[in-house]
Amino acid sequence: MDDRIVTDKEILIESDIQKNLRPKRFHDYIGQSKLKEKMQIFIEAAKRRESCMDHILLYGPPGLGKTTLAGVIANEMNVSLKITSGPVLDKAGDLAAILTSLEENDILFIDEIHRLNTSVEEILYPAMEDGELDIIIGKGPAARSIRIELPRFTLIGATTRVGLLSSPLRDRFGVTHRMDYYNNLELMEIIIRGAKVLDVAIDKEGASEIAKRSRGTPRIANRFLKRVRDYSEIRGNGIITRKTVLETLELLGVDKDGLDELDRGIILSIIKNYNGGPVGIETLSLMLGEDKRTIEEVYEPYLVKKGYIKRTPRGRMITEKARKHFEVKE
Ligand code: ADP
Repeated sequence: MDDRIVTDKEILIESDIQKNLRPKRFHDYIGQSKLKEKMQIFIEAAKRRESCMDHILLYGPPGLGKTTLAGVIANEMNVSLKITSGPVLDKAGDLAAILTSLEENDILFIDEIHRLNTSVEEILYPAMEDGELDIIIGKGPAARSIRIELPRFTLIGATTRVGLLSSPLRDRFGVTHRMDYYNNLELMEIIIRGAKVLDVAIDKEGASEIAKRSRGTPRIANRFLKRVRDYSEIRGNGIITRKTVLETLELLGVDKDGLDELDRGIILSIIKNYNGGPVGIETLSLMLGEDKRTIEEVYEPYLVKKGYIKRTPRGRMITEKARKHFEVKE
């Protein structure tokens, strides 16, 4: 039922395969059991009242299933989902156009909601709270404000940086949930399901090896699965086994903990150039030639979770674990 998902042209240009891998219903949405239970209760309650759900804020690292969950909720509620993101909503009018196109009980998903600019955020407040849109038409003395009544809708906001959300915006969500990394068993299940969708054979050991290296993240698990499939077709007999997984990931430069070149770059440059830290994020970003936000939002959370680096008020520091792991090897 992906035709329900109306995407803005700027975002989410996905391949057909990716669309198929994306679960549509709760029974295919693996892991996150607490979140699923909560959502199922709220959905049921909203359905009984013939109303829409309260606004939901999801936060956590990228690739953990925030957009997917919004799609699942829309399907379960039998309503349409519109997807947009903070940075593409440039002017208040962009958001106003989307809000006025919603139908009763629809779901609006705003990704990277912490990157909304203030003028857009301000029109979101009355829309979320009172279902009203206040817009100013015209300029100077001729300007006048008009109020439009909106259909009832649910906003699902997603962010990798909840701390950057203004508190008036945060306060307007009725439910806030932190998405957590998946464990290896859950990732294995996702990989085995993905292999079925892609129609490729995989054995348990193969699935387990991919899971271990996927940094607790379904998006990475699916990406590795596709690369291993390619490799197994060309270099093997098409079946994904532990051996083909190890060979593919070696080729991709991914180690047994799922760390890649940039992870190693981050850790090694702190060890070699700053004797273990602390180092500021700006310096790290310059040294590695990598976008600061990518380091902060994509790489660091996993390195912190795995106990390789610590964030301190003075900057990033290497842990004993990272020192042992890397100094012995390099
Ligand atoms: P986010 O919005 O948090 O960045 P997405 O919802 O885009 O992440 O998820 C990335 C991919 O991971 C999806 O395309 C989907 O295939 C897969 N995925 C995410 N969560 C799950 C899950 N709980 N079960 C199965 N697959 C999932």
